[in-house]
Amino acid sequence: MIKLEKTKYESKEKKDSKDGKKWKRWLSPTAINSYLRCPRHFYLSKIKKIKQKPSIHLIRGIAVHKAVEKFYANKMNQYPDMDYSELRHLVIGLFKTEWEDKTDSLDSLELTVDELDFYNWDSQMMMLNFLDDFVRNKGFSKPDPVIEKTLFSHKYLLLARLDKIEKQLLPHYIEDFKTSKSMEITEEIKRQMGICSLLYQEVYKRKPILGVNFLKFKNGRKIIDLSDDYIEGLKHLVLEIHAKTQSEHIKDYPCKCRWCHKNFDIMKDSKDTKKGKGTNAIS
Ligand SMILES: [Zn+2]
Repeated sequence: MIKLEKTKYESKEKKDSKDGKKWKRWLSPTAINSYLRCPRHFYLSKIKKIKQKPSIHLIRGIAVHKAVEKFYANKMNQYPDMDYSELRHLVIGLFKTEWEDKTDSLDSLELTVDELDFYNWDSQMMMLNFLDDFVRNKGFSKPDPVIEKTLFSHKYLLLARLDKIEKQLLPHYIEDFKTSKSMEITEEIKRQMGICSLLYQEVYKRKPILGVNFLKFKNGRKIIDLSDDYIEGLKHLVLEIHAKTQSEHIKDYPCKCRWCHKNFDIMKDSKDTKKGKGTNAIS
């Protein structure tokens, strides 16, 4: 899942919140996983709002997600009669445009030309896997899905951005696109999808099927089955993390990962982040 400009929503939503008003800040799956991985990571990214150093994985992930978003925005899901090789060409083109837009950030990574070429090619393959999966799952004959939608729960002061929602037909289906190297359903992914399910059930009053689409792989779509007990457990976890993250003192957030000093531009606590512009995070 990708999350952009989170803080844009914060001030308004916070005011509207009733049940959640005793808590200070909105939590997301990224924030919750961040806290569980390392409280200091949470503190630096979510409280101090210090940007993480960009990485090729982050930039490539954003480019691929944007290209998928454009596929639907440009209504390419309604091109059933188009020649398949032409469609592949267009889908690759969507990615290339996003990649070129990121030239400055990519240059700042100081990777070799070969390394950049590899990630460029690797991401194009992901776009083709996306298209193959779309065709295999009869995407052309389905109603338009909802793409990149943020759901809010005021009760839990919780939000999540969903990559794709199919809710015109039953059962409802939500999907997250991953650009990771492995198809493993990690605890973090389970937790992320569980929180999406929790939010979805609050907003739409239906339990969705949960899918994770690993774009690096052919047939990379995996369905995750989470029990109601697991989702109930997540509710408690969210409340527990709210309670543990009320402090604004760094001493309450020890580093457990030993990487925080490397992952954050701590010396460069920029004006942008102080103004509260959201960090771009991918999970
Ligand atoms: Zn840490």
